[in-house]
Amino acid sequence: MNIKTRFPPSPTGHLHIGGARTALFNWLFARHHGGKFVLRFEDTDQERSRPEYAQAILEAMKWLGLDWDEGPYYQSQRFDLYRQYIDQLLEEGQAYWCQCSPEELEAKRKKALERGQKPKYDGTCRRLGLGPGPGRVVRFKIPPTGSTVVDDLIRGPVAFDHQELDDFIILRSDGVPTYHFAVVIDDLTMEITHVIRGDDHLNNTPKHILLFKALGAQPPKFAHVPMILGPDRTRLSKRHGAMSVLAYRDEGYLPQALINYLVRLGWSYGDQEIFSLQELIEKFSLENIGRSAAVFNPEKLLWLNAHYIKSESPETLASLVRPFLARLGVENVDEGYLRRAIETVQTRAKTLAEMAEMLLFYFKEPDYDPKAAQKFLKPEVLPALERLAGELKELPEFSNEELLEKLFRGLAEEMGLKLKNIAQPVRVALTGKTVSPGLFEIISLLGKERVISRLKRAIEFIKSKEA
Ligand code: GLU
Repeated sequence: MNIKTRFPPSPTGHLHIGGARTALFNWLFARHHGGKFVLRFEDTDQERSRPEYAQAILEAMKWLGLDWDEGPYYQSQRFDLYRQYIDQLLEEGQAYWCQCSPEELEAKRKKALERGQKPKYDGTCRRLGLGPGPGRVVRFKIPPTGSTVVDDLIRGPVAFDHQELDDFIILRSDGVPTYHFAVVIDDLTMEITHVIRGDDHLNNTPKHILLFKALGAQPPKFAHVPMILGPDRTRLSKRHGAMSVLAYRDEGYLPQALINYLVRLGWSYGDQEIFSLQELIEKFSLENIGRSAAVFNPEKLLWLNAHYIKSESPETLASLVRPFLARLGVENVDEGYLRRAIETVQTRAKTLAEMAEMLLFYFKEPDYDPKAAQKFLKPEVLPALERLAGELKELPEFSNEELLEKLFRGLAEEMGLKLKNIAQPVRVALTGKTVSPGLFEIISLLGKERVISRLKRAIEFIKSKEA
């Protein structure tokens, strides 16, 4: 069988964590089987659908590396096709026009609820043989008896009694087909073999299967993936933090970290946590998707991101971090200098945004952290800073960290100080902070000119406070 999966987002918002996981599962399943992956936009809701959202979803898919073999299709461009199938069902008596007004339906719904019954369309227009007319909708005839079994690839068989289903609307009075209808016609005409989607759609699936059968077609196989919960075990939503994929990009997450994180929301392979994309394609299967809800854990995502930053080459990181530096006003930086600077922070930065913050002092004179300045840039360190500035100025070799350390130690000893009594003020003078990469590493990378000028600036700062 030629496997074909699809991802059909509604462009009514950004691609969020849950949608991205669905897309990833469909993509991996197709790639694993050497099949095809289709992208299509379910934009029949013309009021809520926006082209900007479709664009943003495409951008997020590309950033994640989830490429598609067909599409993007737009349901809004396929209305003629849907109409043909509606006509077919009407002609065959498998669907009918209904003239019940929303007010009548609402009144019946209320009555049913009052009687403690499940509200359901009562079939008033089923046998009236009506034709089209203003305000009329088309309903699909559910077989009155029997049941439909969804043979779910994750949950196993789930049976739905036809008594529980009602003759649902497939064409609205404004001529727009409903989701239930368009999704089936699309999956049918695009020859989708596997539908992998959130289990919030499980109750819709018997309706879809019945439509496929009414059209004389074999339904695809279905796999309903358990939902994602927030850390507080309620359904994942905005309350739990950034939900859109592009927000993660803008915060400095790497796409491979997000992919690795998303796949583990429901899928597992022993207790392995870190997977390359190639490995995922090889190992992915629906059998390894669990039946219970997955819990979103932002710390784990951050941990994975730190892992991928650590393992990335300084060369790649340089191009990735440049936009983040630009946001901080640092542009046109020397590539070699940037790469060496990255090597000094790469093991500690958890996101690219954090990395840019950590790198900032290499490119800009630092703003002193007020607490650090108060503690370490004090009048009593002036003699040491002045001596140091003088001696460093004479030092011909800045690239030798050992030599720098020797100079610091010699000076400390001579002045009756501990190394750290000199090192911390210098660190604050050079970086503005009390925590930074190794001091001698920084000095050697910053180079003579920057180091001397920053020491002088710190000296002036202390003097200005004294005055
Ligand atoms: N547009 C639907 C959604 O975003 C697609 C559901 C499906 O996969 O059939 O939930």
